[in-house]
Amino acid sequence: MKKNRPADSIQDLQFFGEFGGVNPSIADSSTFTYLAGKTMGEVFEGIREGCYLYSRHTNPSTSYLGQALAQMEYTKGSILSSSGMGAITPTLLQLCNSGDEIISSRTIYGGTYAFMKNYLPKFNIKTTFVNTTNTYQIEKAITKKTKVIYCETMSNPLLEISDIESISTIAKSHNIKLVIDNTFTPLIFSPAKLGADIVIHSLTKFINGTSDTVGGVICSDEEFIESMIDVNSGSSMLLGPVMDSMRAASILKNLRTLHLRMKKHSDNAMYLSKKFKKDGLRVIYPGLDEHPQHELMKQQMNDGFGFGGMFVIDTKTKEKANKLMEEMQNANLGYLAVSLGFYKTLFSAPGLSTSSEIPEDERETMGLSDGLVRISIGLDNDIERTYLTMIRCMKNVEIL
Ligand SMILES: *Cc1c(COP(=O)(O)O)cnc(C)c1O
Repeated sequence: MKKNRPADSIQDLQFFGEFGGVNPSIADSSTFTYLAGKTMGEVFEGIREGCYLYSRHTNPSTSYLGQALAQMEYTKGSILSSSGMGAITPTLLQLCNSGDEIISSRTIYGGTYAFMKNYLPKFNIKTTFVNTTNTYQIEKAITKKTKVIYCETMSNPLLEISDIESISTIAKSHNIKLVIDNTFTPLIFSPAKLGADIVIHSLTKFINGTSDTVGGVICSDEEFIESMIDVNSGSSMLLGPVMDSMRAASILKNLRTLHLRMKKHSDNAMYLSKKFKKDGLRVIYPGLDEHPQHELMKQQMNDGFGFGGMFVIDTKTKEKANKLMEEMQNANLGYLAVSLGFYKTLFSAPGLSTSSEIPEDERETMGLSDGLVRISIGLDNDIERTYLTMIRCMKNVEIL
């Protein structure tokens, strides 16, 4: 049994506020004073460490949250960013130069896909999209120019799990950096433990959990983090997608309940997946035995947080998907909205936008139907009541 250590690491954080507060004081300053000009010079030159200078570089409030997230992900350091994309894009720009190549999962977040497909070619950086659940496809795509392998722990919308341990062995043997987006599965997976070099989160989702802000983080070793915030050449430093100290303080407080929330999201998703499967619906959830990577997930996940808060049902057609979502919103089951990890249920039809790399016939065999409804289940206390209401909605739109 693997221990649920990442949650312990959050519980064990002991921060004393400037005035003895049980929460750290918010450092509400963009710039910091020096008593001596000489000291400031030394900070600029990098001779002196541990001083705050300017908040695009570091700020005490973002440092607290950064420390907490690094510990949760078993990494030495981290950098906060103003969004998940603000973590992903500087990371890739830091790792790749003109002429380099990326191998990426073909079922990644839409924004990441668009960045690799449409934006990086401006810098002569090419991406090969493969099915990363098949490690042979990754190996086959490696060239001398490959600098990065990129995938998500749990993909969208089929909730496929990539074998991070095997992929990391391949990456290491070719001296390639493995970058993992762990947004769907905080606490559930610890990619750095499994061999990832860089772990990224959109904090916008489960980690913050209140859908009131966007945010992101890059977790990695000290060397990479330092390169990212280097004043002369660091992508995070120079592109400037920093997080505000007020937001960092509020996200840190929400992080303290992440373990409880993940458990509840997972329990609710498991309950509904089992029920709907029994009712004869096609359900995608990694917690179900028939999910293609169910066993793999069991081997690589941490104990105690379940299989995640996302599940997908197949309504067969786009029309039915839309009708069902409207019906569910009217029944106060949640919101027809993108994003995930909120305390109330969120649902959207993922469509095929992010899966355009996948040929038509393969989409069908993969089960990428137009009628998929992706559900980020909320923290509903009485999940049976939710189930009964959902069933009523399905009957109303003739899905059941
Ligand atoms: C939302 C999301 C992102 C982007 O994060 P933002 O905070 O919206 O910039 C990246 N990856 C995944 C898996 C996401 O769900």
